[in-house]
Amino acid sequence: MNSLADKDRRYLWHPFTQMKDWLAEEPIIIESAEGAVLRDTAGREYLDANSSIWTNLHGHRHPKITQAIKDQLDKIAHSSFLGLSNAPAIELAEKLVGLTANLSGGKPTTHRLTRVFYSDDGSTAMEVAIKMALQYWQHRKQGRRTKFVSFADAYHGDTLGVVSVGGIELFHAAFKPLLFDVLRVSQLSELEKMMEQQYDRIAAVVIEPLIQGAGGMKLWPRGLLAELRQLCDQYNVLLIADEVLTGFGRTGTMFACEQESVVPDLMALSKGLTGGYLPLAATLTTEEIFNAFLGDYTEFKTFFHGHSYTGNQLGCAAALANLRVFEEEQVLARISSLSSQLAVGLDRLRTLPHVVDVRQCGFIGAVEVGPYPIEQKMGIRVCAEMRKHGVLTRPVDNTIVLMPPYCVTDAQLKRMLDVLRDSIRATSSGGRS
Ligand SMILES: *Cc1c(COP(=O)(O)O)cnc(C)c1O
Repeated sequence: MNSLADKDRRYLWHPFTQMKDWLAEEPIIIESAEGAVLRDTAGREYLDANSSIWTNLHGHRHPKITQAIKDQLDKIAHSSFLGLSNAPAIELAEKLVGLTANLSGGKPTTHRLTRVFYSDDGSTAMEVAIKMALQYWQHRKQGRRTKFVSFADAYHGDTLGVVSVGGIELFHAAFKPLLFDVLRVSQLSELEKMMEQQYDRIAAVVIEPLIQGAGGMKLWPRGLLAELRQLCDQYNVLLIADEVLTGFGRTGTMFACEQESVVPDLMALSKGLTGGYLPLAATLTTEEIFNAFLGDYTEFKTFFHGHSYTGNQLGCAAALANLRVFEEEQVLARISSLSSQLAVGLDRLRTLPHVVDVRQCGFIGAVEVGPYPIEQKMGIRVCAEMRKHGVLTRPVDNTIVLMPPYCVTDAQLKRMLDVLRDSIRATSSGGRS
């Protein structure tokens, strides 16, 4: 009962983990890291092939981000954002508004994201978006607009409001008694009909732009997002873009919405916001929505929402450094070249037996093995095999995700792809290859 592993098994409960399986295994206990390499307490090294659950961008211990956090720590770690403000949070808001100013790519648009509301993680950023949308319509004297439309297989986080708009049966079924009703669609044509019939009941449509993440790394048809924006405009329904995963270069552009010249009414950011260093999130919205909440105190139009750590200085300082790295180190150009290499590497996996689909969106790669029932845990088994060979990632169902940090070297990326290939071969039934 003395080793860290024993204490982990004695005291902890890990997220999205069947703890019975966990307790039967030797945990990897991470001690340090550098770039795309994680090191455990036994001195073993692993490639971080999923960027520490899709958060890390420029690698671990990037000197600029590390220094920014240390410098901020010498001033103050945290003070309340209720009734007070702070420099890093102000400067970051200005940056985020600037970065999203060109979402429409020069196309004329009546929408512009001009206001930043901070919270702590992707789930809370989306909760904020949903609550803002609902309350906005009350202020606009259209309180009948209470329905949210969301897509099959959507994932927007794990708190109850966003679980309601989520559409992953496996994760969400247990909580049904506590969830609010949403209008669920799987295609735009369904939504068109729905809008026609009951647009005046609909507050907002919620979408993960370009790619659904936890729902299986599923790509939307090109053009869908732009059509969705048009449809929302036509019926005066708000569009909420969940860019928690796609934001900050993952899909090849700073934000996924840029690729279809779409400006949403609300946009949630989190995972990569601090470069993967600290928990922080932001919900961006328009001046129109912001203005609807203005009024005399006694009208109670206030947005009654906030968290203890809202506007946290350390997180905002890390985020500012993260954005500086984007500017100073030509990160988007590097992502473009990495994405091409990933495409070549993924293409070679297509012909493997048991690979049923290979998908890519920017620097997100997904390889689906199958067809296997989920009970066979094939995704989990492939990742367990990869782990033996020093590459860490997690599957979503039967889909293995490759989403390395942007600092990954060509050789490291090649190694990730090779280990993935060998692990699929070793794991697929009978070990045939
Ligand atoms: C991860 C994720 C969330 C939830 O973010 P947390 O920080 O885990 O709460 C929401 N939306 C999308 C698209 C995500 O990938």
